Amino acid sequence: MEISDTIVAPATPAGEGGIGIVRVSGPAGEACLEKFFHPHRPVSSLKSHRLYYGRFRSSDGKIIDEVMAVIMRRPNSYTREDVVEIHCHGGTLVTRRILDELIDDGLRLARPGEFTLRAFMNGRLDLTQAEAVIDVIRSRSDAARHIALGQLEGRLSTLIGGYREDIADLLARIEAQIDFPEEDIPESDQALFAHICKQVIDQIDGLLATFDSGRVMREGISVLILGRPNVGKSSLMNTLIGEARAIVTPVAGTTRDTIEEGLCLGGLPLRLVDAAGVRHTEDPVEAEGVRRARHKASTADLVLLVVDGGRPPDEDDLLALESARDTAVLLVVNKCDLETIPLPAPFGELPQVRVSAHTGAGIEALKERIVSIFVGSDGDSRESILLSDRRHRQALLRAREALQRFIEAQTQEYSLEFMALDLKEALQALGEITGETTPDDILERIFTRFCIGK
Ligand code: GDP
Repeated sequence: MEISDTIVAPATPAGEGGIGIVRVSGPAGEACLEKFFHPHRPVSSLKSHRLYYGRFRSSDGKIIDEVMAVIMRRPNSYTREDVVEIHCHGGTLVTRRILDELIDDGLRLARPGEFTLRAFMNGRLDLTQAEAVIDVIRSRSDAARHIALGQLEGRLSTLIGGYREDIADLLARIEAQIDFPEEDIPESDQALFAHICKQVIDQIDGLLATFDSGRVMREGISVLILGRPNVGKSSLMNTLIGEARAIVTPVAGTTRDTIEEGLCLGGLPLRLVDAAGVRHTEDPVEAEGVRRARHKASTADLVLLVVDGGRPPDEDDLLALESARDTAVLLVVNKCDLETIPLPAPFGELPQVRVSAHTGAGIEALKERIVSIFVGSDGDSRESILLSDRRHRQALLRAREALQRFIEAQTQEYSLEFMALDLKEALQALGEITGETTPDDILERIFTRFCIGK
């Protein structure tokens, strides 16, 4: 990848605002300031990391704007190259004019994420940290932001780096043996190799086990509200989100399709889906809604199965329960402001919360219960490292497989060369997480998720 040229991009979103920032990175950074920025003293005398007032003039000397500019000289900058930022008045035209001047002068418009790509290529960030940058920007909840910041600090990289060191050490021992093929590996060494390998596998398993919590914190939990018509699903949805989004009506079967809302519960992002009422029906439109609800139930993280607390469950309630058979279910016994009856099996045995969507009774308890299903009530997950990215998980699984093969190869007395290959494959997989061995096409895919100017 080419990193010798100088790139430029707007760092603030398009549109009106207090200020707009144009960002430059590369060897020509200082020269472009010399040419276009006119402070009260020579640009060469400007201190690094200080903001200076001056005028930005076009190449033919016309004032484009009054600006503040800063140069962050390498290597103490985001990209480890000379970075220049020009803070102009916010507004599309001013930013555009400044960009045009710089591009006409030979700078190249940066691709999305190219500043961070340079930070990665120049060793300022590893790949998990670079990915964390975009996760911080995109995070929609405190929990997601917390995971991303931990990753940005390098906590995941430190962990992966530790596994890699152990495996590299093991590989060195195996390779030393390959060099002396006539000598048998002492049994004590064989046991040690298997022990080290097993330890790394255990640690990888520990990290993999955090994926479910990590994923829901990063991507959000999808919660489906399911139940037969008229039990109060739309009312519950409205109460949970606090506004009248779905139409509440006493006529059965009105929510024909699904309605989706995003909300935050206990710092967790949540996608709440109100599905069509589930019931045996001849109406083809409604039947399609029921089919979709069942499909949604199979892909949701949690189903809130709503029943009317005042009526004995019927066939349609059973159908709804049956639709959710592959998913975690929390029974929501609604209409508890009215008289309720004891629920028979199998409903009585489900984990349940009693609420009234009308009065709001029990709703807080319901919210707490939802959060605790995913985060656990101890809250300690906020301190530990959580695996949240599918790419990282795939690579860890591959590393784990290779290590498992190494252990098996040892018991089968395969050749040392084979065993070394397994370890190399594990190293390769782990290196893809932190970026040491990541193929270019995957790098490209990661950085195109970024915005321009980051
Ligand atoms: P859905 O078909 O399951 O979405 O049910 P709706 O939310 O449309 O509600 C059906 C009927 O039950 C409406 O007349 C609501 O006013 C009523 N309802 C919903 N929740 C409650 C509740 O907590 N208490 C009482 N008393 N009525 C409710």
